[in-house]
Amino acid sequence: MSVDLHVHSTASDGTLSPEEIVAEALKLGLTAVAIADHDTFGGVAAGASAAAGTGLTFIPAVEISVEQANHELHLLGYFADPRYAPLEEGLERVRAERLLRGQRTVEKLRELGIDLAYEDVERVADGAAMGRPHVATALVNRGVVRTPAEAFERFLRRGRPAYVNRYRLPPAEAIRLVREAGGLPVIAHPKLMHRDALIAQLVQQGVGGLEAYHVQHNAYDVKRYLELARELDLVVTGGTDSHGPGGSAPIAIGATKVPDICARALLEWLDRNSAGH
Ligand code: AMP
Ligand code: ZN
Ligand code: FE
Ligand code: FE
Repeated sequence: MSVDLHVHSTASDGTLSPEEIVAEALKLGLTAVAIADHDTFGGVAAGASAAAGTGLTFIPAVEISVEQANHELHLLGYFADPRYAPLEEGLERVRAERLLRGQRTVEKLRELGIDLAYEDVERVADGAAMGRPHVATALVNRGVVRTPAEAFERFLRRGRPAYVNRYRLPPAEAIRLVREAGGLPVIAHPKLMHRDALIAQLVQQGVGGLEAYHVQHNAYDVKRYLELARELDLVVTGGTDSHGPGGSAPIAIGATKVPDICARALLEWLDRNSAGH
């Protein structure tokens, strides 16, 4: 029995709608799925409705990119209430900055002689939290590159000529907002943070979970993070980080086997922490 607690939908830079994600999870026989889009809860309501009555447990989440001393890391917020205004305002600001970054990226591409308009990117994003994958797809649509991956390689990744940095929330603020919204802040794909020493520090700031299972964690990484989670008394989560087919890094939902005890641990956490509300 397995689960996938980290999936991106069309509400951010994924290519499957929340309904398609739920259908795919059911087809695969997963017992739980979480939609965790970048800086938005936009896919959560549709996912929850699609899963209602199916036997699939739907877990609402968000993935917030934060910045610590010029270093990007990602925090998952499970069960945070989208109606908690201070959190939504923080995310709204981040999404507004994502649009500005999209405009600046297009400007840089135009300076490189590429015939791309901001409207091309807007059309791909279609109201989603805009990200570089939308620019990558717009470049494919324009025939500038053959694949989104090539767009990252040539233009969009850090160090490439059309890379533009963007505003991110400080970790302490994101952690506090998720906690105040009744959610559990979890460190996403800790391996990609490249700084395990930061984990204990983030826990002191209120992080309560660690994504030990992830498509980019090998068996040794998983073991190491499971041990660390035990030492620090953290909820263990895991997921594929699937962005659906046709994107810049196609990974199928369920491709990483995540034991369903992870979903149960999250639900138990919710039980313990919603008592008295
Ligand atoms: P953004 O949040 O706009 O900076 O875009 C980050 C997203 O772009 C990630 O979540 C991935 O979906 C995708 N991405 C980042 N780096 C790469 C890369 N080198 N190749 C392909 N996709 C990438
Ligand atoms: Zn993404
Ligand atoms: Fe991430
Ligand atoms: Fe992700």
